[in-house]
Amino acid sequence: MGTCVKHRLTRQRRIILETLRGVTCHPTADELYNMVREQLPRVSLGTVYRNLELLTSEGEVRTLDSLGSRKRYDGNMHPHYHIKCVECERVGDLAKDVVPMIDMTAVQAGGFKVLNLQLDFSGLCAECQKKRESVTSES
Ligand SMILES: [Zn+2]
Ligand SMILES: [Zn+2]
Repeated sequence: MGTCVKHRLTRQRRIILETLRGVTCHPTADELYNMVREQLPRVSLGTVYRNLELLTSEGEVRTLDSLGSRKRYDGNMHPHYHIKCVECERVGDLAKDVVPMIDMTAVQAGGFKVLNLQLDFSGLCAECQKKRESVTSES
């Protein structure tokens, strides 16, 4: 097989990408593996992982390295920020406009255009807030 298959999306990779793009929960490779197994019953975790790495290097998905101990994947390539729950590590999306001045500031700093911004928020998700409240009211 001498043909270049570098940019051909295999069926597996397409399903992995579509599954990831269809959710907003920023799954880990394990979680995504469990999701795609419904459509790809014979896929292995290693294959899912390898395809995720490939999709990342091709700029189709991005990895969230700084959020928690396990690497998470995001199929949403539109600029946005992340907020992580400090209790359960659930990750939510924040719209880019939460930091409205950043593009202006970069321009003022010498005509820069912001391509990527690493800015992560942490907090408590609604469920974990409720859990904390119930713990304090019991004591
Ligand atoms: Zn939580
Ligand atoms: Zn996201």
